[in-house]
Amino acid sequence: MIAVSSAQGVIARYRSYLPVGESTPVITLREGDTPLLRLRNIEKHIGCESELYAKYEGLNPTGSFKDRGMTMAVSKAVEEGASAVLCASTGNTSASAAAYAARANLKCAVILPDGAIALGKLAQALLHGAVVLPVSTNFDGAMNIVRTISARYKITLVNSINPYRLAGQKTAAFEVCDLLGDAPDLHVLPVGNAGNITAYWMGYKEYQFAARSTRLPKMFGFQAEGAAPIVNGAPVEKPETIATAIRIGNPASWQSAVKARDESGGEIRAVSDAAILESYRMLARMEGIFAEPASAASLAGTLQLHADKYLQRGMRVVLTLTGHGLKDPGTALKVVPEPKPFKADVDEIADFLNLKKLDARN
Ligand SMILES: *Cc1c(COP(=O)(O)O)cnc(C)c1O
Repeated sequence: MIAVSSAQGVIARYRSYLPVGESTPVITLREGDTPLLRLRNIEKHIGCESELYAKYEGLNPTGSFKDRGMTMAVSKAVEEGASAVLCASTGNTSASAAAYAARANLKCAVILPDGAIALGKLAQALLHGAVVLPVSTNFDGAMNIVRTISARYKITLVNSINPYRLAGQKTAAFEVCDLLGDAPDLHVLPVGNAGNITAYWMGYKEYQFAARSTRLPKMFGFQAEGAAPIVNGAPVEKPETIATAIRIGNPASWQSAVKARDESGGEIRAVSDAAILESYRMLARMEGIFAEPASAASLAGTLQLHADKYLQRGMRVVLTLTGHGLKDPGTALKVVPEPKPFKADVDEIADFLNLKKLDARN
């Protein structure tokens, strides 16, 4: 049983695949059902004979894929009688937790690495009423704090080590299969705390087991060069990258990401910040898709696979674009020329734009 209605949120849509019962209250903002967009202009531009599709997760209610997991985590927290939720976050988890907690009348507290959060994400968490605690540590330090607090005090942890988060997030793999008619050949995505690659792999395997799809994709995860612990095989003490959402040195789901990679026959590789920014601009300029920098690691990785002659004719490649570009307008403005003020003069503007005069008869 699938697809009750595409506009009901992921719990209603994929209920039979999720750990929910009749008594589970469904806290939803109608997340999921995001578009799969063929990237024809980029295919043509790079001379790629594979079909590239972007799963544009920036169109979730709070602007990132985190909502798929948060609807589950918060619904289960309410079912279990919680009164407050807690998370560490590079930004999007806190935005999502704050919104779903508001909808469920729960308190929400978030621990953020001080100064390393995109402005839009911070604004979301604050406006939704979360208690925001910027701590002078990085994400990994914030993660250690919330693990310890939730082990000692009555508050529900909604980071992706909460298993309900991954259960919700696996629905993105279901949607890809439903939209393509089967699983793709390759699935490419950014890797930070490594929950999402774990969740997609879980989803693809469950869908195949349920005979909703016939095959499994190879999973290709991409970390930023300055924050690539899985690629290096060792934690990174001071992770650095412009892609703040994947600025993580010791991923919580490290082992399961490696398992997804190895079971699927895929790889986890690194891409440079320069390649991430180049892909970020390409998506916006060539395809009209404004994704945040971390999301562009998917395209940067795909371009790397193309350059390595890995992408064959007819292959279907799905790229997860994890979050919306509007969350981080500061980075966008850094990679474009600043517009110059211009005189309010019709002829001078037309001249500057090199416009031809209309025929007088028109
Ligand atoms: C959370 C996040 C990621 C990383 O996902 P993980 O599950 O932590 O690997 C990537 N991009 C964006 C925009 C995110 O919010």
